[in-house]
Amino acid sequence: MISEKMKYFVQNNSALRVMFEEGNRLRAKYGADKVFDFSLGNPNVPAPKEVKQAIIDVLNEEDPIILHGYMSNAGFEDVRQTIAESLNRRFGTGFQFKNLIMTVGAASGLNVILKTVLNPGEEVIVFAPYFLEYGSYVNNFDGKLVEISPDTDTFQPNLEEFEEKITANTKAVIINTPHNPTGVVYSEDTIRKLAAILEAKQKEFKSVIYLISDEPYRELVYDGVEVPFITKYYANTVVAYSYSKSLSLPGERIGYLAIPDEADGSEEMIVAAGIANRISGSVNAPSLQQKVIARCVDACSDIEFYDRNRMALYEGLKKCGLECIKPQGAFYLFVKSPVEDEKQFCEAARKYNILMVPGSSFACPGYVRLSYCVAHETIVNSLPVFAELMKEYQ
Ligand code: PLP
Repeated sequence: MISEKMKYFVQNNSALRVMFEEGNRLRAKYGADKVFDFSLGNPNVPAPKEVKQAIIDVLNEEDPIILHGYMSNAGFEDVRQTIAESLNRRFGTGFQFKNLIMTVGAASGLNVILKTVLNPGEEVIVFAPYFLEYGSYVNNFDGKLVEISPDTDTFQPNLEEFEEKITANTKAVIINTPHNPTGVVYSEDTIRKLAAILEAKQKEFKSVIYLISDEPYRELVYDGVEVPFITKYYANTVVAYSYSKSLSLPGERIGYLAIPDEADGSEEMIVAAGIANRISGSVNAPSLQQKVIARCVDACSDIEFYDRNRMALYEGLKKCGLECIKPQGAFYLFVKSPVEDEKQFCEAARKYNILMVPGSSFACPGYVRLSYCVAHETIVNSLPVFAELMKEYQ
């Protein structure tokens, strides 16, 4: 008999599973080229060539006993030092190896930091729309998720409501920029204002509120947009980074947490996060992948491929009469549904073999998410089909 907690997750897993199975069913029935599956956030650009070379070099050059052995729960020191220096070069930060904890992707990083700081019943604020797994992660530690409603004009965080909803019981706030599912990058102005609100609330409640910056899409930005490095704006920031998207390595499960010295209780937090990594069952991040990414800190997947897809889908959907904010990062478009119930719109699209994720899967009904990490032809071939679909709404 499974636990009550898991019963809830099993029931709520079904929507995604149905979508995944539906994609496979449609491809088997009509052929892959007749199905326009925009539902998955799985990078379709291969990992950069540096990654393959690094795997070969690591296997040839490193001592296998050390390479495949147990290590400090926070990861290899030389790897953490290399990443720290790369961050310092790029963002003017002052990290040393001790500030970095290697994790099993961002998902594990988020769980580790929540395990590290959260007491049962404490609140974690998230901004809708948001990656729905945040709810599961907060639930893992019996925290309370507090949602801020979306600003659908800009999809920047709704700071007025944010200010109102911070309480003496707020322990953490999760932000994600570049953003899944909207593709928005939070502006420097937004980050400054958000930081000022947090500073004032910490004073008011004599509390510590951690800002957890979930950054798996940091390098995936377009039109020369800058992504502010959050630790420089607010001391109590912890960064959860991942190589899943920037190096197209989602299955390899590799990322890190960066806990700056300036964060309240940082020394204790760093020790605790290492232990949380261990007792969560991950023990440490995959050793081979740690060594690989240390040799690829300046590499990145082919962003131009995503950019070409972004522009083709964005312009194409606009021509079909759909409304959407122009994404500046990640690989998603968040499109306004032509009918209030976006699930109905997804159902209608499915009849045309178009698969999209309803916005309610990101706590933002009335919108649909399209992932453009697909073949370019899929986008080109889908546009006349979208035009047909939209005739139903004229
Ligand atoms: N956070 C966001 C916003 C994501 O979109 C994803 C994955 O899609 C993750 C975290 C998890 O990434 P990882 O593969 O590094 O665990």
